[in-house]
Amino acid sequence: AQVPVNVTVTGAAGQIGYALLFRIASGQLLGADTPVKLRLLEIPQAVKAAEGTAMELDDCAFPLLSGIDIFDDPRQAFEGANIALLVGARPRTKGMERGDLLEANGGIFKPQGQAINAGAADDIRVLVVGNPANTNALIAQAHAPDVPAERFTAMTRLDHNRALTQLAKKLGVTVSDIKKMTIWGNHSATQYPDIFHAEVNGTTGAKAVDDQTWLTEEFIPTVAKRGAAIIEARGASSAASAANAAIDHVHDWVLGTPEGDWTSAAVVSDGSYGVPEGLISSFPVVSRDGRYEIVQGLEIDDFSRERIDASVKELVEERDAVKQLGLI
Ligand code: NDP
Repeated sequence: AQVPVNVTVTGAAGQIGYALLFRIASGQLLGADTPVKLRLLEIPQAVKAAEGTAMELDDCAFPLLSGIDIFDDPRQAFEGANIALLVGARPRTKGMERGDLLEANGGIFKPQGQAINAGAADDIRVLVVGNPANTNALIAQAHAPDVPAERFTAMTRLDHNRALTQLAKKLGVTVSDIKKMTIWGNHSATQYPDIFHAEVNGTTGAKAVDDQTWLTEEFIPTVAKRGAAIIEARGASSAASAANAAIDHVHDWVLGTPEGDWTSAAVVSDGSYGVPEGLISSFPVVSRDGRYEIVQGLEIDDFSRERIDASVKELVEERDAVKQLGLI
């Protein structure tokens, strides 16, 4: 029998956790042949709720689930982890300044980075979902000097998937007809969904749409503000779609992106496309041999350049703020 893959999930008792864990345990993260062991991390007050979720996981009798352990100590939760999904984070509450938010999350992601450094498996791969995801990933990465930086990523796959559906609806095609969508920058309202390189039935997304007003007034803001629209409609933030995107991100990272297509992920910049080295920013990426690589050589016109730069500027400001707070 295969050795189970250790998957650590933080914030396991939260909304996204509830939508995520059953899919991991059923084999949708790593494929139908790979057994998994779940290691759940929660804050002490939420351990009981995590235990309830674990009871439900037990009650599913998933053939691929070889065990569940629950912790409130990151050192234990990341011990032997092959994959880490960092979902738990400190949400922005009313009246909270950005500095307070970054500081509160520094208190979470610094010790988690240290725990990953100390005890995770050599092949550890980290996906940060908890917001502000890019900068939380940067904080964790900075405290894991023995882990290759490229193993720390943040999620823009939900933005990517949202962009695919919005474009497909506009064109009256299906999402499978669209390849090479790209999200650039920060997972925030400044993100830039790029349809200039997207391919739709032999042309580009931008040419197929041929409507600059729709692009700037509808498509870009709809994708960037979709989270708020869901809260408005559901009375709760997106959870199943965020969990779905986390599954997609890790699945493709481990098992590869399809030939002739790419996806979007926030990965450590190597300086490509003028994004300062070391920032964790979203790029078009392919996954080969278990590594995400930035797609090279795309032409960036002035329209795209301006928007990529604006989102990257925000990431630089977040990085400078956490630096000033002594968090990296
Ligand atoms: P959710 O499970 O709904 O969300 C978790 C995080 O994911 C938030 O930071 C949220 O950001 C973020 N997120 C990223 N993308 C999306 C998206 N597209 N839609 C919605 N959320 C997104 O939060 P809950 O409050 O239900 O649960 C959080 C859990 O984490 C709690 O059980 C808490 O106890 C736990 N926690 C655990 C920690 C740990 O393990 N050490 C530390 C801190 C919390 P945003 O707020 O911007 O929506």
